[in-house]
Amino acid sequence: MTENLLEKVVSLCKRRGFIFPGSEIYGGLKGTWDYGPLGAELKFNLKEAWWDYMVKQRENVFGVNASILMNPKVWEASGHVESFTDPLIECKTCNERFRADKPADIKEHENVHIKKKEKVSWTEPKQFNILVEAKLGVVEGEKTTVYLRGEITQGVHVNFKNVVDSMHPKIPFGVAQVGKAFRNEITPRNFIFRSREFEQMEMQTYVKPDEKEAMDMFEFMKDLRMKWYLMLGMNKNKLRFREHAPDERAHYARAAWDIEYETPWGWDEAEGIHHRGDWDLSRHSKFSGQDLSYFDQETKERFIPWVIETSAGAERPLLYFLLDAYAEEGERVVLKLHPKLAPYKAAIFPLLKNKPELVEKARGIYRELKIDFNVVWDDRGNIGKRYYAQDEIGTPACITVDFQTLEDDTVTIRDRDTMKQERISIKDIKSLLHDKQK
Ligand SMILES: [Zn+2]
Repeated sequence: MTENLLEKVVSLCKRRGFIFPGSEIYGGLKGTWDYGPLGAELKFNLKEAWWDYMVKQRENVFGVNASILMNPKVWEASGHVESFTDPLIECKTCNERFRADKPADIKEHENVHIKKKEKVSWTEPKQFNILVEAKLGVVEGEKTTVYLRGEITQGVHVNFKNVVDSMHPKIPFGVAQVGKAFRNEITPRNFIFRSREFEQMEMQTYVKPDEKEAMDMFEFMKDLRMKWYLMLGMNKNKLRFREHAPDERAHYARAAWDIEYETPWGWDEAEGIHHRGDWDLSRHSKFSGQDLSYFDQETKERFIPWVIETSAGAERPLLYFLLDAYAEEGERVVLKLHPKLAPYKAAIFPLLKNKPELVEKARGIYRELKIDFNVVWDDRGNIGKRYYAQDEIGTPACITVDFQTLEDDTVTIRDRDTMKQERISIKDIKSLLHDKQK
């Protein structure tokens, strides 16, 4: 099953309304994807699970929601303009980009693949900027070139002073953001794994400029992030940490680890944990002329904090959760998504749709559950078919209203994973669905 698992998931996503190719009726737009009714719910649930775990459940952590369009100087300060305006070629094996005018770097990279007995081939050199340009302004000829943000990180760092002045946080403290970013990827690939428009979920934690404090926070964050995947039911054996080799680290990184997932195309990145040192704040201090230091009330010291970052996409974990959840069991296809992530928390069925008393009773339960949960109504076909249809989209529970319900206010509740059915009282449905969310 693993060799065509990706195709099966892509096909399920299209068929059942999770993910469609972007602007499909016009022939699509390379590297873009649209989320359908169930995909939009799944993505929302994933981001909410991240925010809840990383922000709401923790202390001394704040959220921001910065603009996608930023002053172009931000990208000079961050190093993005400089690093991405050269003629670049891209390694077709690992998608890493190199300056076409640096033969030594190219040779060195080729040797890495040759040593691993992998083939090396390069794209044609292109004058390349990974930042997506946009023109802002109303008068032709007076428009300013801006960039759609290439990462959400900088929206946090440029607001460092605002957050400190308004919230008076005690160091160490975290600032989180979730939002869209854009990159001119040369080679979008593997469904939603690499696309030109994507969402990121990031936590920037500001710590004292001290190697021990920084590395303690780094280890804490590595552990915290791995636990998040496990909490949401991802298969432990398909997850691992990988440390970046010194030559693959980004320009700012003092230490860098990835959490990786074993995909059908091999181990690949889920997210990164980076020790960014004082790179961001000192660069923004320099380029903006603003003082971005922090005054520690306890020790009476003033310093530029260091940053420990956790940086995940939304799409990669989403894809990995889908791959991880997909199972074929006899006649049925089932998505064993964690109930927190599942688009619908339960489906409500009247046993027969032509019996008004059953339909009315079931509608009442449906309306009552809808106040607390995203539940779905289905009265098409026989019950067995309805179960299978819900299994395929990951609905954890199916509730059937039958003639006995009219007599004793009990329903049949059927579990997606065990397929076991039990009779429970209507008044117990809510607490049962709540328990599944844990
Ligand atoms: Zn390569």
